[in-house]
Amino acid sequence: MAKKNIESVAVAGKRVLVRVDYNVPLEPESGNVLDDTRIKATLPTIEYLREKGAKLILASHLGRPKGKREPSLSLSRVGERLAELLGSPVKTTSCCCGPEVQEAAHSLEPGEVLLLENLRFHAEEEENDPEYAKALASLAQVYVNDAFGAAHRAHASTEGVARYLPAVAGLLMERELAFLGRAMVDPERPYAAIIGGAKISTKMAVLESLLERVDKLLIGGGMANTFLKAEGFNVGESLAEDGFLERARQVMARAKEKRVLLLLPTDVIVADEFAADAQAKRVSIKDVPDGWRIMDVGEMTVNVFAKALEGCKTVVWNGPMGVIEFGSFAHGSHRLAGVVANLKGATTILGGGETAAVVEELGIASRFSHVSTGGGAALELLEGRELPGVAALADA
Ligand code: ADP
Ligand code: MG
Repeated sequence: MAKKNIESVAVAGKRVLVRVDYNVPLEPESGNVLDDTRIKATLPTIEYLREKGAKLILASHLGRPKGKREPSLSLSRVGERLAELLGSPVKTTSCCCGPEVQEAAHSLEPGEVLLLENLRFHAEEEENDPEYAKALASLAQVYVNDAFGAAHRAHASTEGVARYLPAVAGLLMERELAFLGRAMVDPERPYAAIIGGAKISTKMAVLESLLERVDKLLIGGGMANTFLKAEGFNVGESLAEDGFLERARQVMARAKEKRVLLLLPTDVIVADEFAADAQAKRVSIKDVPDGWRIMDVGEMTVNVFAKALEGCKTVVWNGPMGVIEFGSFAHGSHRLAGVVANLKGATTILGGGETAAVVEELGIASRFSHVSTGGGAALELLEGRELPGVAALADA
């Protein structure tokens, strides 16, 4: 169901509470923001609201302070970075509720921006406590959720607060829902999904959900090992989850039944230990030596995947093809990223923290139609689940 967005509410002169996802990595020593992608992603919503004369109250969580004030998880540095990006001051508070915050919120002028302190300094946030949600709502007249990355959590600032104010989607939220929603409901075909990453246990539901929607399913990374093992290949010391062998067989049988092209690696890079400087070689999937482990997909596999992707109109990719943290085992993911980036006439959607990191590191993120800012939230959406932070918003 489509949701109302910020263009459908009057905000001039009003106090608008905007839930953003500023859960960004900080440098341990200095507390400086290491990656401001998530902050930048909220600028369109903030700038739109300021132009319309709204008074902005931004709220976010950062890390896991477990309901206690934790100075190293203060949002003050994030506020400084936001001020630099906006080119205008950002006010901050030492808390996210109480008289000081009420005062700060009510004295805002149109176009001014106030960033509240970390919402999770109060345990009531994650408990979705109604009083806490009401206290947040009492600061504003309109609620905007632009925190797609937190939308899979039913917390006070993502779900509870929406009960007490007109609640609409921000521009980032809207964009995420449009791309991922389309991939779930009305994709242009042929439609391919590429699934990789480490643990099958965290991705099996996504894979099964996508299997019902796609024409082609390309499986790589650690995920593939369980499938290869289920097919009877020796995977040596590779990461594989024996508890999922049967489900992997069911997926392969279902793919056959649905005539979905399911591809597994045909060649792989194996290593004699799990280390950046391990001894490594490329082997056919039939020849993985005992005692060795699969660390990346091989060249031939990337070529076969590239061929399958040719002509596809929608491509969803989640999870790297190998152990990208070690440079020598990142080639498969890097090459595949290039292939997907070069697809002509295709809507290309990337989800997942590590997958996004791969293309950002390569400097090619802008060549994909959409790189999702929500790791867990994107996965839950692709699983076909309803996100509480989205469900709480007004229907369009
Ligand atoms: P995303 O964050 O994009 O959703 P995941 O968190 O599922 O992706 O997976 C990323 C992790 O998968 C990386 O840390 C990478 O090292 C790991 N990985 C990929 N291939 C393998 C493999 N063959 N063996 C072990 N780990 C792997
Ligand atoms: Mg991850």
